[in-house]
Amino acid sequence: MRNVILFGAPGAGKGTQSAIIREKFDFAYISTGEILRAEIKKGSELGKQAEQIINRGELVSDEIIVGMIKSFISENNSKDLLLDGFPRTVKQAEALDEILKTLNRGEAKVVELEVNKDVLMQRLLKRAEIEGRKDDNETTIRERFNQYDAKTAAVADYYKKKNSYISIDGEHGTPEEISVKLIDILKKL
Ligand code: ADP
Repeated sequence: MRNVILFGAPGAGKGTQSAIIREKFDFAYISTGEILRAEIKKGSELGKQAEQIINRGELVSDEIIVGMIKSFISENNSKDLLLDGFPRTVKQAEALDEILKTLNRGEAKVVELEVNKDVLMQRLLKRAEIEGRKDDNETTIRERFNQYDAKTAAVADYYKKKNSYISIDGEHGTPEEISVKLIDILKKL
């Protein structure tokens, strides 16, 4: 079973590319950000805990996120996996390794969408106008970039060391053109 991590900074296009990929492949898909936003909307205990953290642009605790991922993977163990927004810390990456090992699923492979920070900022501010996400304002976006640099960028190095990392240009070209490159990689994984 394939374990694919779609990786990239906020605004890199993980959600957009995931939607295109899912039309073509039968992946069990999880976006940790989407789940958290749904929990906030429901007003659940988890949602209440996560809301302030997300609106500040910080990361939700590894324990909460790993718990979420663990149940999702266990429930979908017969399928290929597409992970969006996870892992975001080296701790989460290590926990994922452990989960995959326990379930005999083989190694995870990372595909990063590479996009320049200025372009990311423009995209997120534009998305704010369309989707109205509370964390898409300039102050919170800056903090999300800080968190990415401080905690998430190291996740790419973690997978580079295992030779489980590929990156593609996520900046130039239409979403469809970028998806062609991504699909090509997925076929070979
Ligand atoms: P983006 O990639 O555009 O920042 P996401 O929807 O993936 O958007 O995530 C939104 C917010 O949800 C993050 O800023 C963070 O607070 C929280 N979050 C999502 N995934 C994780 C994760 N794996 N670990 C910790 N926090 C997370």
